[in-house]
Amino acid sequence: MAKQPHATPLLDQLESGPWPSFVTGLKRLAKDKDYVVDLLGHLEHSYKTRKGYWKGGTVGVLGYGGGVIPRFTEIKDEKGEPKFKDAAEFHTLRIMPAPGMHYDTETLRKFCDIWEKYGSGLIALHGQTGDIMLQGCTTENVQPAWDEINQMGFDMGGAGPSVRTGMSCVGAARCEQSCYDEAKAHQMVVNRFLDDIHRPALPYKFKFKFSGCGNDCMNAIQRSDMAIIGTWRDNMKTDDALGKKWFAKHGMNELINDIVSMCPTRALQVKETKDVRKDAHISAVALNDSQSLEVDNKDCVRCMHCINVMTGALGPGKDKGATILVGGHGHLKIGATLGTVIVPFMSLKQEEDYEKLVELGQTIIDFFAENALEHERTGEMIERIGLANFLEGIDVDVDANMVNCPRSNPYVNTGGWDEEVARINAKKAAA
Ligand code: SF4
Repeated sequence: MAKQPHATPLLDQLESGPWPSFVTGLKRLAKDKDYVVDLLGHLEHSYKTRKGYWKGGTVGVLGYGGGVIPRFTEIKDEKGEPKFKDAAEFHTLRIMPAPGMHYDTETLRKFCDIWEKYGSGLIALHGQTGDIMLQGCTTENVQPAWDEINQMGFDMGGAGPSVRTGMSCVGAARCEQSCYDEAKAHQMVVNRFLDDIHRPALPYKFKFKFSGCGNDCMNAIQRSDMAIIGTWRDNMKTDDALGKKWFAKHGMNELINDIVSMCPTRALQVKETKDVRKDAHISAVALNDSQSLEVDNKDCVRCMHCINVMTGALGPGKDKGATILVGGHGHLKIGATLGTVIVPFMSLKQEEDYEKLVELGQTIIDFFAENALEHERTGEMIERIGLANFLEGIDVDVDANMVNCPRSNPYVNTGGWDEEVARINAKKAAA
C-alpha cells in the first residue's frame, strides 16, 4: 500500500475524454508505489504552473556512453529539498527493439517484471526513435535493471549525438506489400554502427528507418536521416480471380471513386478487356468477364493507393528493392524537412546488395561527421552546403529521378476526423 495520493484535479480531467488515459494507468501503478504517487504530484504541479521541471545530468551504465536519459527534479520545498522526493530522479532507459518489433509474450512479461522491480512500472512501446522506453528509475537502480535486461539478450539504444536506434516495419514476416528483407537490412546496419550507437561522437543524431513499401509505416521519409523505403521497378503484379472477387463485392462506383480517380498520376483506366493495350509497360486485372482495370506502369509512381485498396488483385512487381532518401527530420533550425531521393532504386536481393546499402550508410555518416556543424542534422547540412556538393561528397552521380521532397508537408490536419468517424458509426448503426 503506497502513501496518500496528492490531489490531481487537472490530471483527473484527462480521464474524462473518450480515449484511454495515461493518468488512469499511472493511478493504477500509484496504488503500490510511492514513486508514482509523487510522479503524479509532480506532473500536477507542472500542469498548474505550466512549466516543465526536469533537468538533465549524467547517468549511465558501465561500458556505454549513452542510452540513459537522466532526469532530476527541480521542484524544491522551502528547505531546498525535492518537494516530491520519491520521484526526485526519473531516468529513462532506452532499449533497442528487435527488427520489426517482434516479441513473444514471455519477453514482454520479463520486461514488466524487471521494471516493476527496479523502476516505476511505466513502459512505452515504442519511443519516437523506436526504442523500448523504460521510464522512471532512480540513479541507484539503473545499473542492476540494465544488467537483467542485458541478460535477456537486449542491448542499449542510442541517445545524444550518435547513430540512433533503427526502426523497421513488421515487414515480410507479416505483410504482403514488403519489397525487401527489412529485418536483414536493419540488423546489418545496426551491427555495422553499434559503436556509433553506444558512444556518441557525431555532430548530432543520425537515424536509420526501414519501411518495406511506399506506405512507409515507419514514417522514414519524415523522421530519418537515411530512409530505406521498399519499391519495385517492373510491372505491378495482378490476380484476375481476386480482381473479380473485389469487383463483385464493391462495384463500379467504388472502383471509380476510391481507386481510379484517386491515382495521383492517372495511371489507371477501366477498359473493355479486348481494348487493353498490349504494350510491355501495361498490366491489367480482370473485373468481370468483359472488363478490366488497366495499369500504365510507366506513369505509376508506386504510391501504393490502388494496391492498398485492391490488395491481392494488385500487388508490387517482382523486381523489388528500395529507394534511398536522405535528410528527413522534425522541425529544428530550418523547419521540418522530408527526405530527398539520392538513390531512386537499389536492388535488394543478394547478400552483396545489402552490403552495398551498409557501405552507402557508412559513406554518408563519414561525410556527415566531417562536414556537419554541431547540432545540425543531415537535412540541414544539405540545405546549407547544397545538394550537388553533398552528392559529390558521397560520390553519387546526379540522376533526374532524385526527387527533392517527394511530399512537401509532413503534418496532417486531423480537424473534423472525430466528427467523420461519429457520422460513419451513426450510419452503420442505423443500417
Ligand atoms: Fe496510381 Fe501507381 Fe499509386 Fe496505383 S500505385 S494509385 S497506379 S500511382
